[in-house]
Amino acid sequence: MTGKVTLVGAGPGDPGLLPRKGEAALRAAEVVVYDRLIAPELLELLPPTAERIDVGKEADHHPVPQWRINEILLEKAQEGKNVVRLKGGDPFLFGRGGEELDLLAQHHIPFEVVPGVTSALAVPAYAGIPVTHRDYASSLHIVTGHAKAGSPLQINFRALAEAGGTCVFLMGVSALERICDGLLAAGMATETSAAVVERGTLPGQRKIVSNLGHLAEETRRADLHSPAVIVVGEVAALSDRFDWFDMLPLKGRTVVVTRPKRRAGALRSRLRELGADVVDYPCIETVPRLENPLLEQCLAQISHYDWVAFTSSAGVEVFFDALWRLGLDSRALGGVKLAAIGPSTAQALEARHLRADFMPTVYDTEHLALGLAQRTNGPVLLPRAALGSPILPRVLEEQGVAFTDVPVYDTVFPGEHADALLPLLAAGETWVTFTSASTVRGFVGSLPEGTDLSRVLGLCIGPQTAAECARHGIRTRVAREATVPALVELILKVAGE
Ligand code: SAH
Repeated sequence: MTGKVTLVGAGPGDPGLLPRKGEAALRAAEVVVYDRLIAPELLELLPPTAERIDVGKEADHHPVPQWRINEILLEKAQEGKNVVRLKGGDPFLFGRGGEELDLLAQHHIPFEVVPGVTSALAVPAYAGIPVTHRDYASSLHIVTGHAKAGSPLQINFRALAEAGGTCVFLMGVSALERICDGLLAAGMATETSAAVVERGTLPGQRKIVSNLGHLAEETRRADLHSPAVIVVGEVAALSDRFDWFDMLPLKGRTVVVTRPKRRAGALRSRLRELGADVVDYPCIETVPRLENPLLEQCLAQISHYDWVAFTSSAGVEVFFDALWRLGLDSRALGGVKLAAIGPSTAQALEARHLRADFMPTVYDTEHLALGLAQRTNGPVLLPRAALGSPILPRVLEEQGVAFTDVPVYDTVFPGEHADALLPLLAAGETWVTFTSASTVRGFVGSLPEGTDLSRVLGLCIGPQTAAECARHGIRTRVAREATVPALVELILKVAGE
């Protein structure tokens, strides 16, 4: 059986610009063949078993030549695989998508094309430049500035100058001077507005807005490089007025997220929406204990407990998975009451259509324990991390509450993986979010011994997390309450200071 190849346009960088059809294709892919500049988030959509083939091209040298890429697609499809060819921007706009389909068509391999959001349109849009505008431009010309090594540019400058619309040049930075000279020689005015936008739609997007006479010089001075889009035409002058991306409150800020990968999503995407450059640096992973005789014993006698108190959404997940594996479901809980330490734990219960009977007003273990002490008439079950806070059992003991502390998952630290982080720490103040004391321990443990932590600013979800930071000499700011929205609010506040 032959497979199929789907050519998918991944968009110019912002992972949110992947088309829905492209997302569906990635989720079903068995093989993905992808380019440089593809957002890592997009590869996370792949099934874990999918084969990933990186054919990324560095400027001026091609690690995997085009003919070989074409062959890989053919070979994998002939093996019967569902292949996705993930390409930057739109696959057919200066993307050699046509060449890739040629060989497939010759061999009667079925294929589909998912058009993408091209950088030619999206990058100007993220820089506040509408490529047409009734008052300024009624046509758009998209031109490649790429020329074979040693040969002159193949651009009809006269035609562009006469047409009078907006010109967008891709792959043009290294030929910028020749492009500007060509347009001027063809009669365009030196005052014609023009812009260069580097790494458009990405957190590190930079731009300069100038005019045709000064564009090349200013681009050199600002040290802008490929990938960049060049826009020539009156619409470029609107850039500063319509800029929205550079105005995002966290634009230009780098924020390190230390949550476990599986749980980082909400914080990560919220910070990105606010313009931050988010560095994923997972410092802990939670591993459920699948063999757990103590938990099974407690579940078998669950009606013996007055309360089950959860201190994390991971605890909720493992608890109900274990119940399910025993052939039971939430009805087994009967009249047992449920406590959640805070809103995200309560949400994990809600996802199972269960309400928390109690959630403390301050979302920490101490307030949880004190609240339980006031309410309970019998023993409390604590399904939680093996490395959970000692405060919870201590306070319950002090209050004379009987409880069973059941470790249901282990917290593992990935160990040293600091290569991506050390340059950031060396560069200056580094903002690191911490959502639990264990993320702090994982963070410190991931760094080589003796790393200077004085320039880390720990953005902490609560006081216990901050206390762990203080133990390692990390300066902190603490969220108003222990929730992800409050942590984001804190980051916005610190950014505004
Ligand atoms: N098929 C792609 C273009 C491939 S050619 C598309 O439709 O977008 C590669 C050129 O695209 C780069 O040299 C640059 O000019 C432009 N480009 C791609 N991504 C970009 C980005 N994020 N910011 C600026 N330019 C980008």
